[in-house]
Amino acid sequence: MPTPTDAKPAMPVIEFRDVEKQFDTKTVLKELNFTIERGERVTLIGPSGSGKTTILRLVMTLEGLTDGYIYIDGAPLVYEQRDGKRVPVSKRQQKLLTTRIGMVFQQFNLFPNMTVLENIIEAPIHVLGINKRDAIDRAHQLLEKVGLPDKTDAHPTALSGGQQQRVAIARALAMDPEILLLDEVTSALDPEVVVDVLQVLRDVAATTDVTMLIVTHEMSFARDVSHRVMMLDGGKIIESADPETIFTNPAKERTKKFLAAVL
Ligand code: ADP
Repeated sequence: MPTPTDAKPAMPVIEFRDVEKQFDTKTVLKELNFTIERGERVTLIGPSGSGKTTILRLVMTLEGLTDGYIYIDGAPLVYEQRDGKRVPVSKRQQKLLTTRIGMVFQQFNLFPNMTVLENIIEAPIHVLGINKRDAIDRAHQLLEKVGLPDKTDAHPTALSGGQQQRVAIARALAMDPEILLLDEVTSALDPEVVVDVLQVLRDVAATTDVTMLIVTHEMSFARDVSHRVMMLDGGKIIESADPETIFTNPAKERTKKFLAAVL
C-alpha cells in the first residue's frame, strides 16, 4: 500500500471545518469535517447528489460557502475567524491559494479559440509570470507525458474527447499545482478512451506527489490510486478508510449497499 509523502508533520493541505453548503433552501453539506494530508490521494464516493462535486467546487472557490471554514496549508480560503467573528478573506489571499490548485472537469473546459499549446501556456504566463519560452518548453514536456506530442497546434474542436481531456490534464499540471481536483474526468468519454485518460492519471499519481482529491465512478481506478476513500451520504462523510477496507470490508451498511449497486 503506498503511503503519502511525509514532508513535515505539517498542516493538512486541505481542511474542512464545520462546512455547510446550501443551494437556496436545500442543505447539501452539513457539519462536514475532514483533512487531507500532503501527497495524499483521496477519492470521494457516494450516491449521485450526495455533494461530491460540490466539495471540489468549494475547494476551487467556484461555489460560495454557507457556513464553516476551509483551510489550504493552514491558511483560510474563504472565511477566517477574527476577533471571534467569521469574516471573508481578501480576494488577493484567495487568489494566492487557488493558484496552487488545479482542477480537471468532466466537460474538459478548454478554451475553444486557442490552440492546445496556447491553452497550456496561458495561465503559467499570465498567472505565474513564467516566461514564454519556459512555458512552451514545459508544455511540450507535458504533451509528451499525456501522449499528445504532435497536437501542439491543434484546436480543441479537432480533438476527440479523450484527447481534449488529456490536454486539460496537461493544462492543470502546467501550473505545477500542489492540489489536483479531478471531477468525474472520464464520465463524458467514450468507454474505449477512458482507459487512456486513466492511464495518464495513474502515471501522474506514480510520478508526482501532488495531493489529489478525486470524484470518480471508476472504482478500480479509485482502488488503485487512492490512499483513502471517503464515503459521502446525506451531506456527511459516513466512512473514511483505505481502499482495501472500503471495497472489501466496509464498516457501514450504507457503504456496502452503495458499492453493491455500482461494482
Ligand atoms: P454529486 O457530485 O455527489 O452527484 P453534487 O455536488 O453535484 O453531487 O450535488 C449535490 C446536490 O446539490 C444535488 O442535489 C444537486 O442538485 C445540488 N446542486 C449542485 N449544484 C447546484 C446549483 N448550482 N444549484 C442548485 N443546486 C445544486
